[in-house]
Amino acid sequence: MAEVQSEATYVKHHKKKIAFVFSAMRHFAEELRAAGWTVHYIRMDDPENSGTLSGEILRLAEQIGAKSVIVTEPGEWRLREELRGLNTASGLTMLPDDRFLASHAEFEEWARGRKALRMEYFYRYMRRKTGLLMVGQQPEGNQWNFDHDNRKPASRQLRIPQPLRFAPDQITLNVLALVANHFGDHFGDLSSFWFGTTRADAEAALAHFLTTALPHFGDYQDAMLKGEKFLFHAVVSLYLNCGLLDPLETCRAVEAEYRAGRAPLNAAEGFIRQIIGWREYVRGIYWLKMPRYAKSNALGATRPLPGFYWTAETDMACIRACITQTRQEAYAHHIQRLMVTGTFAMLAGINPHELHEWYLAVYADAYEWVELPNTIGMSQFADGGLLASKPYAASGAYIDRMSDYCGDCAYSVKAKAGPKACPFNYLYWDFIARHRERIKANPRMAQMVRTWDGFDKDRQAEIKSDSARFLSGLSGA
Ligand SMILES: Cc1cc2nc3c(=O)[nH]c(=O)nc-3n(C[C@H](O)[C@H](O)[C@H](O)COP(=O)(O)OP(=O)(O)OC[C@H]3O[C@@H](n4cnc5c(N)ncnc54)[C@H](O)[C@@H]3O)c2cc1C
Ligand code: SF4
Repeated sequence: MAEVQSEATYVKHHKKKIAFVFSAMRHFAEELRAAGWTVHYIRMDDPENSGTLSGEILRLAEQIGAKSVIVTEPGEWRLREELRGLNTASGLTMLPDDRFLASHAEFEEWARGRKALRMEYFYRYMRRKTGLLMVGQQPEGNQWNFDHDNRKPASRQLRIPQPLRFAPDQITLNVLALVANHFGDHFGDLSSFWFGTTRADAEAALAHFLTTALPHFGDYQDAMLKGEKFLFHAVVSLYLNCGLLDPLETCRAVEAEYRAGRAPLNAAEGFIRQIIGWREYVRGIYWLKMPRYAKSNALGATRPLPGFYWTAETDMACIRACITQTRQEAYAHHIQRLMVTGTFAMLAGINPHELHEWYLAVYADAYEWVELPNTIGMSQFADGGLLASKPYAASGAYIDRMSDYCGDCAYSVKAKAGPKACPFNYLYWDFIARHRERIKANPRMAQMVRTWDGFDKDRQAEIKSDSARFLSGLSGA
């Protein structure tokens, strides 16, 4: 196992993300040694460290006279290519990563010959395959998807739980010092580190979620509240993605809560869909479509990423809140990523590749196989609709309905025009107008195009000039 400069810096990952991964690695190495394995562990500050994974594999293979080199397929195309190009004396065997439920071949088989690769159908296939929430061949509750029940705004009267926090032990403290020393110029706060770093920690965090938050997970899945960074979300993606939790075990634990009458079906189904549906599906799309997928820019967006994605210095209260908590926690929940930072970027025509590098850097759970399709496909529609059936475009009214951010904002969510109007309001129509030809044929967007066409010329001109004024004031990162 090797802590290497190239993996920590090919994008400048959030300090907490690097600390989490290095500490989880060091803990795992200790567990393996305690179980009798021989582990060669190369630390970041080892003077011999070549700085790349391929360099460390070659160095060690030579040092110990390895007869064969076996690796697990990495989660990023970039690294898979790097390892495939390794010139070891004995050749290199790459084994599939068995921490997923669908193999590449299985996803390809599912996708073959389909006109549209919609997640919903893949999800049904995965429900049948795993038997999760199934009664024979039928879905529990005679319905595959309870998403329409999962759109309630949250209120402050609710008792909102917090994720389980872990005090750093000596291993983590050492890593925190190392990260402060080597990666001090990276984005993000390092203080108040509370992530679990072992499998036992991750299991405890999951168990805590099951009892404190799962029952409301579905109802408030799309809600946002000021100062509430986690609401009823599980905060387990970082554990799942680095291998401390197993996806099927996690889903079975959630199903058991439903079967025991401790969680409603809309919560259990909603959660399980995110994992055996979305999580497996985006991974399938990634490996099916790379490397071209990374270059997609169907909407031709070229504006540089605004500097406030790094500083949080903006008058837009919703964006300020999401980016501030991202800096503190290396975490934002799905709807904050999708409908606040994501929607704003799409409406403003931000270059999807700059945005992709931002999402990849700032979240503790971010690895390209999962982050890229979520950014390029789901959030930016930059793949032209391969992943999402319509662009996630919305005006300020959506954020106002699902959150209490607008009350604190320098802009007025009710105002449609002028310097005090919520920028989401005019940027939304500007987006519809800019992409009119592309989206008018989409049945889910056609009504919006007709509404734009029905605006009188003065209203259209006002939207254009408000948008141009606002966009020209954005300064790049
Ligand atoms: C622009 C954008 C970028 C994203 N980047 C990442 C990323 O780098 N890594 C990542 O794991 N997720 C990413 N997501 C998906 C999702 O936002 C996170 O998985 C989720 O916020 C993690 O928090 P949680 O564990 O509290 O999730 P919960 O809301 O509690 O959901 C439970 C689990 O379901 C899975 N899940 C939920 N939604 C998705 C999804 N769309 N794709 C894949 N898995 C999902 C996760 O494993 C998550 O832990 C991104 C979403 C968007 C819109
Ligand atoms: S008014 Fe607009 S910019 Fe301000 S918080 Fe609401 S949605 Fe965000």
